[in-house]
Amino acid sequence: APLRGAARGVYAVRDSIRSFPSQSMNTANCDFHCHSTVSDGLMPPADVVRRAAANGVTTLALTDHDDFSGLKIARETAAECGIDFVNGVEISIEWNGTPIHIVGLGFDADAPAINAGLAELRGGRVERARRMSEALAAIGIHGVFEGASKHAGNPSLISRAHFARYLVEIGICKDVQSVFYSYLTPGKPGYVDHRWATLENAISWIKSAGGVPVVAHPARYKISNAQVRDFLSEFKDAGGEAIEVTCGSHTPDQVATFANLARHYGFYASRGSDFHGPEESYVDLGKLPGLPEDLKPVWQLLS
Ligand code: AMP
Ligand code: MN
Ligand code: MN
Ligand code: MN
Repeated sequence: APLRGAARGVYAVRDSIRSFPSQSMNTANCDFHCHSTVSDGLMPPADVVRRAAANGVTTLALTDHDDFSGLKIARETAAECGIDFVNGVEISIEWNGTPIHIVGLGFDADAPAINAGLAELRGGRVERARRMSEALAAIGIHGVFEGASKHAGNPSLISRAHFARYLVEIGICKDVQSVFYSYLTPGKPGYVDHRWATLENAISWIKSAGGVPVVAHPARYKISNAQVRDFLSEFKDAGGEAIEVTCGSHTPDQVATFANLARHYGFYASRGSDFHGPEESYVDLGKLPGLPEDLKPVWQLLS
């Protein structure tokens, strides 16, 4: 039998994944991208895990934005439900002026560098939220910091999603998509620039904690196809190893495009719903199609 876990010298946290059905790696129901109330999800971590298990997920990563205080309870709940669990996080970076998200998988959640780096990112969020609220007050919408804070399960992780929910609650827009469109994206009155981590920061934090860096939802960034390639080259040169190929926001054409790019760059492929809550998500936990058969699934790096 192949050596596993500690016997191969990988971090002990990776030992949590042992039981992928070997005959069907690419159809195993893994979901490596989702959110809880620790960031901008609508359900507490334990409920996310129970829902995943009920939907047939066999291995789950919880990937809250910039914070991993939900991982412990999620791991315990996964054990109760009899499914495997992988530590996860979704780190906000800025690359040449474009906000991009990097998922980290299978890291040691006690590693110092990633904890210090994420603490700094969270500190910046509160500042930014106050400035967003001032910008909205300037166009006559008052008290949004306080209102959005009531929607944030974790006050240090206040995000645009909480602003959007509050603006829907008070009737400014009919749904969160419209709030983003009219108020919370670049050029719109509630948008405030923010200094996120760099690509190098995110990759070094994840790798120094023994984890795998993954580009989240690569079709979603507002950059040209040529810039996507430049970004993926830099990601690879900096030590990046995987990209999401099957994810909640990808159309079938985009799955095909990023499957080709994974082949081209030799990236492992990840699969993640990016579930935020039953009312707000593209797709439910564990309900995505499998990865294209010839791609190397990212969970090979995690077992
Ligand atoms: P933040 O990290 O504060 O910049 O907030 C970004 C979060 O807002 C993302 O993780 C998504 O959950 C959500 N989001 C971003 N853009 C949109 C959009 N156009 N419609 C709905 N939700 C969005
Ligand atoms: Mn989010
Ligand atoms: Mn994201
Ligand atoms: Mn996400």
